[in-house]
Formats: sequence, structure tokens, C-alpha cells
Amino acid sequence: MGDLRDEKKFVINFSAGPAKLPETVLRQAQKEMVDYQDTGVSVMEMSHRSADFSKILNTAEQNLRELLEVPDNYKVMFLQGGGTGQFSAVPFNLMKLKPGESNAAVFVFVLRALNLYMINLFPLHAPSNLTPLCSDFPAIPEPSTWNLNPEASYVYYCANETVHGVEFKTIPETNGVPLVCDMSSNILTRPIDVSKFGVIFAGAQKNIGCAGVTVVIVREDLLGHAMDLCPSIFNYQVQASNNSLYNTPPTYSVYIMGLVFNWIKGQGGVASMDRNSSVKSSAIYTVVEESEGFYCCPLDAACRSRTNLPFRIGSVEGNDALEKKFLEEATKAGYLQLKGHRSVGGIRVSLYNAVSVEEANLLAGFMRNFMAENRHLLDSPTQ
Ligand SMILES: *Cc1c(COP(=O)(O)O)cnc(C)c1O
Repeated sequence: MGDLRDEKKFVINFSAGPAKLPETVLRQAQKEMVDYQDTGVSVMEMSHRSADFSKILNTAEQNLRELLEVPDNYKVMFLQGGGTGQFSAVPFNLMKLKPGESNAAVFVFVLRALNLYMINLFPLHAPSNLTPLCSDFPAIPEPSTWNLNPEASYVYYCANETVHGVEFKTIPETNGVPLVCDMSSNILTRPIDVSKFGVIFAGAQKNIGCAGVTVVIVREDLLGHAMDLCPSIFNYQVQASNNSLYNTPPTYSVYIMGLVFNWIKGQGGVASMDRNSSVKSSAIYTVVEESEGFYCCPLDAACRSRTNLPFRIGSVEGNDALEKKFLEEATKAGYLQLKGHRSVGGIRVSLYNAVSVEEANLLAGFMRNFMAENRHLLDSPTQ
């Protein structure tokens, strides 16, 4: 086959991010790294205003528009600062602060993202200005209980919470209030109706490419309302009117992102990623469900993420010794980066677009074997 497998040991990378890239993308980047398409220079060495780089940037934008069917009245930007940068950029650009008005924004919550989001807002607002809609995991609260403020500047939510593995399967209805969505960990894994959103943003390092570039999609009527103190690199109007070239964009990350978009198109587009996502996540959740309590996932099945699948071994609290053994044996077998987020522990399988159905099935097989070999240890008093 001549792919990278010939040159490196067998591994499957289940990292939550930065995450696996398609092998063909890495192979092409390797081929072009020193001499990009006979230019004699690397993309890393090119002016961001050169014709060659403009083509890379514009083609990437065109392909993303096609993949997500982005309507014409939306701007697509490729910015720096990551998802975390957008936690600040969103209020800088959208929050209407009028003196004496208590309303700022309403947030449909997802825990870690909301916490980060609020921490990033602290310099700007007293927390009392925020209206977080909280619930306890493992479920997303019923929409009828949300009590959204119709005067809010925007409603913010995270489409897929990467740490606990909670995913919205439908788009929240906000009755005209602009909807802002952090899609960092599930963008391009399912078709979305972009016209329902005011702003969509996503860091690249999960489904889009390598770290460094952040995709921001903004409806045009939301441009031009930034607060005076908004830094210019985060000002959507400034960046949109400069075609993401107000300052130097992360050029190499933009290039890799473009290769990934080509790869997704070649695989059959977002519809195909969507089908794969269902098949891959079902393969893992089926093992969990049929394990008779050996593997435990406490999440409501209706909101289980297809891209980040956390589970414990033995009980919802987990069995430290068995989880450690699982991770050690998995690593030895080539199944990498399965450790749960440090704040929750346990196991987490991340199944972004670059992880194939075959690879998810291999892990499901490993999980079945591990269960068969270790179930007797669950009741052992020494564990
Ligand atoms: C990874 C992630 C982030 C953080 O992105 P950075 O690029 O590290 O700032 C934010 N939101 C979600 C949902 C994520 O998965």
C-alpha cells in the first residue's frame, strides 16, 4: 500500500485532541513539506499574501462552505486563539452591554465548556449578569425547562462536551435570539443547518486538522457590533473584511485543514462522516451495554456523544486497578490515548472523523477480550 503503516508500528490513536489525522493527509503533507507544488518553498515559508497561499486559503474556505452548505450571508474565518480565544471573542462581538441593564446573555450549559467560558468572561462581567442554565449530568435538561430570556444578546451552547461526552442531537430553539455554538469536538461529523446559527466556532485539532487554526462562521448581520475594547484580532468585522488576513493567519494549519477538507470530500462528505460516526460509536456503546456492568457509562443514551465516549470499569465510580490494567494493555496493543480526562478519570474513546470504522471495531474487539479475561477480577477481594 505504501502508506505510513509500512514505516511505523501499528497504532490506533484515540486521542481527544489534538487528535488523529487521516494518513493520506499526513503523507501528502510529508511529500509537499519541503517543496510545495514546485514552488521551491514550504507552505511554512510562504507569504500569507502570496498567490499560492491565497489559493490554499480560498480553496479551504470554498470546500468548507460546500461541506457544511454554508449560506451566502455567512462569513467564514480562519483565526488564531483556539476555542478558548472564542470564549472571549463571542461576548466581545455580540454582547450588548447597556448601562443599568442586567441582561447579558443566556447560556445553555454544558459543564466544562461553561466553566471555561465563565472564567474567560470574568474580566468583563460580574457573574450575576450571566444566566447559566444548569443541570446535573448525565442528561441535557428538557428544552421546556430552559426559560430562555428573549432579551438576551445571544444563547450560547456547546454542541458536544468533550470531557463528559454529552452531545446535543438537535439544535436548541431560541425564538430569534442569536444562537452561538462551540462545535470544536463534533463539527463535520453530522450535517447541520447553518442558517439556525448566529455564530459557530471550532478549534481545528479534533476534526479539522492540527492545532493553531480556529474556524469561525458568523452571520453577517452580527458583524460590526463589537465592543470598543475588543482586540482587533478578535473583531469579527475586522477579520471578515480582511478575508482572515488582517494579521498573519496560522498558515501551515490552514494548509493542513485544506487537506483534511479534501479528504472528507473524497470520503463522501459530511453525510458519510455522519454514517461512520453512528457505526463507530454504536460499536463501542454496544460492548458497554452488553457487558452486564463490566463497562459502565452513566450517560442518558439520548445525549451520548458519538465523538467522545467515556466509560468506567466495574461501576460508575470505576475500579482503579482494572482501569489501569485496561490502559496498559490497550497501549501495549497499539490502542493509544484512551485515558479519561484528568478531571473525571476512567476511559475515554474519541472517535473523530479520521478514526475509521475498522479501527473502532478493532477497539470493540479488544474491549470484549479484556472483559472476558478480567471479569473474574471484579469480585476478587484483592482488587
Ligand atoms: C478542545 C475544546 C475546546 C478548547 O479548545 P482550545 O483550542 O484548546 O482553546 C473548547 N471547546 C470544546 C468543546 C473543545 O472540545
